[in-house]
Amino acid sequence: MSDIKNPVAQGKPPYLLTPGPITTTDTVKEAMLRDWGSWDGDFRAMTKQLCDQLLAVANASETHVCVPVQGSGTFAVEATLGTLIPKEGKVLVLMNGAYGQRLAKTLGYLQRAYVTLDKGDYLPPMPEEVDEILANDKTITHVTVIHCETSSGILNPVPEIAEVVARHGRSLIIDSMSAFGAIPVDAQQLPFDAIISSANKCFEGVPGFGFSIIRRSALEQCEGNAHSLSLDLYDQWLYLEKTGQWRFTPPTHIVAAFLQAMVEHAAEGGVAGRLARYQRNQQRLVAGMKDLGFRTLLNEKWLSPIIVTFLSPQNERFDFTEFYDRIKAHGFVIYPGKLTVVDSFRLGCIGQLYDEQIDQVLVAIAAVLDEMGIESGHAVLTEENEVTA
Ligand SMILES: *Cc1c(COP(=O)(O)O)cnc(C)c1O
Repeated sequence: MSDIKNPVAQGKPPYLLTPGPITTTDTVKEAMLRDWGSWDGDFRAMTKQLCDQLLAVANASETHVCVPVQGSGTFAVEATLGTLIPKEGKVLVLMNGAYGQRLAKTLGYLQRAYVTLDKGDYLPPMPEEVDEILANDKTITHVTVIHCETSSGILNPVPEIAEVVARHGRSLIIDSMSAFGAIPVDAQQLPFDAIISSANKCFEGVPGFGFSIIRRSALEQCEGNAHSLSLDLYDQWLYLEKTGQWRFTPPTHIVAAFLQAMVEHAAEGGVAGRLARYQRNQQRLVAGMKDLGFRTLLNEKWLSPIIVTFLSPQNERFDFTEFYDRIKAHGFVIYPGKLTVVDSFRLGCIGQLYDEQIDQVLVAIAAVLDEMGIESGHAVLTEENEVTA
């Protein structure tokens, strides 16, 4: 029955229930059917529009600048860290999953000193903890936090943490890769020196560049910090200001697609509209999965509308690869888990997914459980793994 709407059965690609790249609209893809000269005034205007619109989304036009950079999101994170943190700086890395770990690893490559608050796989760093660490270590210059830690799907308490960091007079860098565009950010309320995101997550563009929204007064101090020419956002910014151009070949088609994606983002009601759809997707998905016996890793309170981690069913017939392949045959690509302590898998709520797709994937998962001879998605956490925060 689910085959009636199965894209794969119709020779179309499956829907991506992943944290990016995600399923984009045909109109976003069609925006890439034209070539642009990178030096040309038309493309320079597109770059300016891109930066202006991103600043507007964060209500940051007065205080911050937007610096795009070629590459995936990680390139933008590395570029931001390398540019903003001076060689004698020291970073407090708030870590609760793979992306926080990657950030610390990047600092290692950059040879910047850091300390971590490591909360493991799925507990949030709490503002009181940050307060205590900063009070006891005056040498910390910067704090980094992951907005939505995509490895578990947890939405970290960033506004509360930002308030603490600002009170201590330190600089905050937010990896908002999987949140910006769907989780509201207001630079006039939320104090940060940089917030980083990329083209292919909540704005629903295609992958190929990232961007950093950086406090102008902070960036002005950053000449000579960067370890890398191509990742020097200070230099990229100066050149953009001076010429309207990216320093090196820009991903022209991806910028064009992104501008179309931003038109569609605005048409959906901007951040609020997008958040509403993602929340709806998440609630429908979680309710339906619970009906099938599955349970989420996180307490309701910490679930993000971006991606949800479900515990793997406690059933000897369950095998993730088989589960994945079978769901794909029904038209949906899901995502493996990324936890160290429990077996899990993830379902994304972002991209071109609506009630219809969520209902369909639930039908598909029910069918796959049936095919695999698994009566229920039932799983329990042992007491020590229980998420109690
Ligand atoms: C997606 C993501 C990144 C960047 O990943 P890339 O694979 O380099 O695009 C960084 N941080 C978070 C939290 C993410 O979700």
